[in-house]
Amino acid sequence: MVLLMQGKQLIIVGAGVAGTIAALLTRRRLGDASGKIVVYEASKRYRKPCGEAVPSWILKVVEEHGISLPKILYRLRVHVFDVAGVCKRTIEDVEWVIIDKKSWIEELRRRIEDVIVYQAVSVESVANNTNNIVFDARGPFVGDKALWVWQSYAECSHSDSAMLRVTVNPFGLVWVFPRGKSICNIGGGFVNVKELHKLREVAVNEVRRIIDVKTFVSENYSIIRVPPSNISVFRSPNIVRLGEAAGLIMSLGGEGIRAALLSAIAAASATSLENETICFNKLVYVWKIKNLILQSWLQKKLFEVIKWLTAEKICELLKAANEDVLRMWFEGRLGLWEVLFGVPKIVFIAFS
Ligand SMILES: Cc1cc2nc3c(=O)[nH]c(=O)nc-3n(C[C@H](O)[C@H](O)[C@H](O)COP(=O)(O)OP(=O)(O)OC[C@H]3O[C@@H](n4cnc5c(N)ncnc54)[C@H](O)[C@@H]3O)c2cc1C
Repeated sequence: MVLLMQGKQLIIVGAGVAGTIAALLTRRRLGDASGKIVVYEASKRYRKPCGEAVPSWILKVVEEHGISLPKILYRLRVHVFDVAGVCKRTIEDVEWVIIDKKSWIEELRRRIEDVIVYQAVSVESVANNTNNIVFDARGPFVGDKALWVWQSYAECSHSDSAMLRVTVNPFGLVWVFPRGKSICNIGGGFVNVKELHKLREVAVNEVRRIIDVKTFVSENYSIIRVPPSNISVFRSPNIVRLGEAAGLIMSLGGEGIRAALLSAIAAASATSLENETICFNKLVYVWKIKNLILQSWLQKKLFEVIKWLTAEKICELLKAANEDVLRMWFEGRLGLWEVLFGVPKIVFIAFS
């Protein structure tokens, strides 16, 4: 395998979380941007306001890389994980923040205005020019195994906790995140509930079992590819995938901002300029995102297994989970060591 990609131009397709941050950081590394970097973005407005919860340590990483911080709408310390109302586990002192993602991305886009072209392009067609290195940051890809998601902001009774509820029939996940004074981000995603009215009905019913929801402020309907057929970070010879386009998404909670951000930082640090040639080191990129690959892979596998289990069995798994492993999981910090030793132990205890 050739470990070094070389090209005259860097083309970034998609200016969402991954593409915008990759553009900002590579521009700094490559110096004068004009002509070296082009970002193609399909939509003038960032159309994905819905996903907003990130572990708070991510903000430090954003700051360390000189990227302006998003506006913080809410801070959460308590997570309640509930399995179909059969059992619950509360994880305390893991801080997450709810950010205003839409205004953040639009502000970051203004900083790369000189290199953005608002036009949808095909990654394959720009990669046909072998003088280009292409970052594919197009976000979710609708594959055959989709999870259908309904999301809304709603007036709700105030709560300090993030509530996540696994549902068994239909299999899926429902969430409630406080987003400000008396406003919650609520939603649910289910396997095999595809009709919009049915999806809304199931999600609203499940949410109402967790919290008293009053008026809905806005509603969205999206599809997340969960799990994608595989995680794939390169498409040879000159395409590098970032964020959700690479399959880097935590299937069990739909969390993808962290992966998009960290993969963009990794891609930028793997990019350099030598004698007017742009070089991309694949090894550096893979090494820097190895934990994200591992975490996404693990969640996809667990997703596949859990969907066949009864609520009681899932409760046994949750009960067997060691506090530290669970905390690292919620913080998004699980590494190879915890996966190799912590996770099999949980599965062994739960099933023996
Ligand atoms: C309902 C819902 C709730 C979520 N909640 C959370 C959450 O709480 N926390 C969290 O971390 N994550 C959450 N996520 C996931 C998170 O939103 C994504 O994982 C994250 O935005 C992925 O970032 P990205 O940069 O890979 O892609 P995106 O942010 O999706 O950006 C992709 C960009 O590419 C552009 N594009 C696509 N195709 C083309 C093309 N052909 N040419 C040019 N441009 C193109 C799009 O217009 C878009 O701007 C949620 C997702 C959904 C659907």
